Amino acid sequence: MVDENILIIGAGASGLMAARELAREGRRVTVLEAKEKTGGRILDIPASGSTIPFMLGAEFIHGNAELTFELLKEAGIEFSNISGKSYFSRDGKLEDYGSDQEFWPEFNEKLDLLTEDITLTEFLDRYFKEEQHKELRESVIRFAEGYDAADANRVSVLSLKKEWEQDDQEHQYRVEGGYSKLIEHLENECLDAGVVIVTGKVVSHFNWSRGFVEAITIDGERYAARKVIITIPLGVLQIKDGSAGAVNFTPPLPIRMGAVRAMGFGSVIKVVLEFDQCFWPEDAGFIFSNEIIPVWWTQNPSPSKVLTGWLAGPSVEKLKDKPESELIEIALDALSKIFELDSKLLGAGLKHAHACNWTNNPFSRGAYTYTTVEEPNAAAVLGNAVQETLYFAGEGIYHGPQIGTVEAALMSGREAARRVLSGY
Ligand SMILES: Cc1cc2nc3c(=O)[nH]c(=O)nc-3n(C[C@H](O)[C@H](O)[C@H](O)COP(=O)(O)OP(=O)(O)OC[C@H]3O[C@@H](n4cnc5c(N)ncnc54)[C@H](O)[C@@H]3O)c2cc1C
Repeated sequence: MVDENILIIGAGASGLMAARELAREGRRVTVLEAKEKTGGRILDIPASGSTIPFMLGAEFIHGNAELTFELLKEAGIEFSNISGKSYFSRDGKLEDYGSDQEFWPEFNEKLDLLTEDITLTEFLDRYFKEEQHKELRESVIRFAEGYDAADANRVSVLSLKKEWEQDDQEHQYRVEGGYSKLIEHLENECLDAGVVIVTGKVVSHFNWSRGFVEAITIDGERYAARKVIITIPLGVLQIKDGSAGAVNFTPPLPIRMGAVRAMGFGSVIKVVLEFDQCFWPEDAGFIFSNEIIPVWWTQNPSPSKVLTGWLAGPSVEKLKDKPESELIEIALDALSKIFELDSKLLGAGLKHAHACNWTNNPFSRGAYTYTTVEEPNAAAVLGNAVQETLYFAGEGIYHGPQIGTVEAALMSGREAARRVLSGY
């Protein structure tokens, strides 16, 4: 018998947002989540004696994230501006990072002239191939890889333009207590409205026809409904048929899965280290370098003694099979070079350490989405419901400049719920 339920697969920001919107309108909703806990790529670990948790997933609010702010306000969760100066470490010496930014006007000038979409590498080869532009090339690629987790050989340069134009580096915030406070709020709202959240359920197959869908889990359970919103990350949907972790559809969805494969899904390793004392400049915000873990940041303006390391994009490949303990060693070694300090001494002052390789996480398989030149409209293709029955949502299925963020996930979840409600 077909249940009147609406199914949602995935209890990250997108799935919980969709569930709440539907339940508020009186729909019966069941959420199936692969992990034992909700939050997905929002993953905070409480830090004893500190109000700031160790944030292994999302951490910042980037610029004008309207829906995020709206939800934080309604939940009474505070957020604060991040602060601090940016440094670049060269040969163990910290320099003002400002000098590295001088190239951007020239880069943007050329970008403004571009009418056709090409990859970032093609763009740099076309306009900045000469030796005199070496630093510009390095700087731009570092930003695309570090910030967007993108592969310069695939990413659409026009999509970067759109995103970077909107990006407001001056207005970056952190949620007090971490983004998991927002997840808690959404989850509580869902539960209060009668949503059933079932954790530990890994969906591997969907049987569907118009007005009917059955989600089958790897332990053989079947959940039937009239409609489903699928918020499984693109990294998981990209797993090839027949490989472990793949998600299949009967009948198949060649157009939607073609769009999934055409989208970029970057890699990231995030390392969070707490020391017994600060050995970095008090005013430091971000510290960039050419070390293997190249980007580091402090918790400024908080006096916390936590440093966070970040490696994103294709360079993650070099470290992809390293266990957490080795990643922490590598991170300490990178820090010892950045600050010209003995890595053994740094290790002795280490109080807590976490390293998370999101590419190895079976339920994310990477960091977040970027737009490629292969199919710039892939997000729109995926955003179209299949026969008013299958709806895709999540950070990658979002049409604005905030692609890849918590805001994108929330917006996409709300949009999918609205589509379900209005039947288009
Ligand atoms: C290290 C890192 C740092 C980030 N930093 C920021 C930041 O500072 N600011 C920002 O805005 N964004 C950041 N992001 C991006 C942000 O975390 C994501 O865009 C957002 O959380 C995605 O939400 P989602 O609901 O679309 O997907 P997810 O949060 O991934 O939720 C999808 C859910 O589906 C579940 N799932 C997967 N497969 C299955 C299956 N087969 N069956 C059932 N369930 C399944 C997963 O377990 C997961 O809970 C960061 C991401 C990472 C990885």
